[in-house]
Amino acid sequence: MRVSTASSRPGENRMYELEVQSLAGKGLRRSVSIWQVPYSQLNACLQRLGQTGGRLLRITPASAATAPEAGQAAVPAAAPTPSPAPMTNHAKAHADVPVNLYKPKDPFVATVLGNYSLLGEGAIGRVNHISFDLSGGNLHYVEGQSIGVIPDGEDAKGKPHKLRLYSIASTRHGDNLEASTVSLCVRQLEYKNEAGEQIYGVCSSFLCDIEPGAQVKLTGPVGKEMLLPPDEDANVIMLATGTGIAPMRAYLRRMFDQGERAKNPEYQFQGKAWLFMGSPTTANLLYEEDLNGYLEQYPENFRYTKAISREQQNPSGGRMYIQDRVTEHADEIFSLIANPKTHVYICGLRGMEPGIDEAMTAAASKCGENWTELRQALKKAERWHVETY
Ligand code: NAP
Repeated sequence: MRVSTASSRPGENRMYELEVQSLAGKGLRRSVSIWQVPYSQLNACLQRLGQTGGRLLRITPASAATAPEAGQAAVPAAAPTPSPAPMTNHAKAHADVPVNLYKPKDPFVATVLGNYSLLGEGAIGRVNHISFDLSGGNLHYVEGQSIGVIPDGEDAKGKPHKLRLYSIASTRHGDNLEASTVSLCVRQLEYKNEAGEQIYGVCSSFLCDIEPGAQVKLTGPVGKEMLLPPDEDANVIMLATGTGIAPMRAYLRRMFDQGERAKNPEYQFQGKAWLFMGSPTTANLLYEEDLNGYLEQYPENFRYTKAISREQQNPSGGRMYIQDRVTEHADEIFSLIANPKTHVYICGLRGMEPGIDEAMTAAASKCGENWTELRQALKKAERWHVETY
């Protein structure tokens, strides 16, 4: 089955063309037919298909964006069956991804270029964007990888601190587009221990407090789980909570930042990128200015859905979490996943995963599919990417 919504944007009054294999006639022969369905009826149509036992072979935006003639949007007697068919094996395509260029015993010593808060007034906690100069070494990376930081100082046993991994928030070209920097998005960890004392994270405090010009030991890069597919027409669904947006920020810059696009003639993104972002307050939303710029410039390609937990409520009156947004859009996400060119990236709190699975289980069951099996197949096809803590 092939599903593509690349040039459309939900909410528009666009027509979709569905190619459907249905069971027809007395002997229930399989026949293939084409249906024109307006976007507003697409979900209802897909749901009804789920009850009738056929197969959806393809969805594409119809070339003519005109309303259907009477009867044209009739409900096909078929069920959507998302296929986990693998796209090109992108692990192979990324065989040359750099890993472990610098190890803890011999780290790269980088110089801090900048360190600023990403938060608005009244936000909770501290989240900073910190950039390092990598020039003079061989530390390079691609989008979706992580970097190790060894904070200065010693632990309680008098031993040097161990490294902590952080998702890289910049593209391979770095924020200055000169391929000589790396940036991180770091929240200062803070919590109360059992004795009620306020504890601050060693490395996250070290990084949030660091001054430009300071020298920091870096290792890596590591990780191949969160790599972007090379296809310019892939669809990329991103689910992030808090600083889990770091890799997504890199993907979105690669896709939509003008300087980045000029650097990547082989990657002029034309697919659909859909970011779901979970944040406690509006003031805690990260990289908003950039994201709003992409929305303005690429309304056909970028979509941004927020779950602001302490300002919005879910339908049960609880905090609005990212999984509630996934539930709202589950059928649409499920249809997108049916496209073998769609990848899903999940980064941030592990707690969001059960809710996402629940929403997808419900969407899958409407189509007679088993989500657990489908998710495993998506994982195997390297289209379901998860990095949660
Ligand atoms: P945060 O700003 O504290 O929280 C982000 C949002 O997630 C808030 O709206 C929060 O809601 C919500 N949330 C809390 N529990 C949730 C749950 N069970 N399901 C869904 N949403 C939930 O986030 P943060 O401190 O930046 O933390 C992000 C997490 O991602 C950290 O654990 C960090 O270590 C991890 N992380 C992982 C990677 C990686 O794996 N590569 C990279 C970066 C960050 P409320 O607080 O209002 O309840």
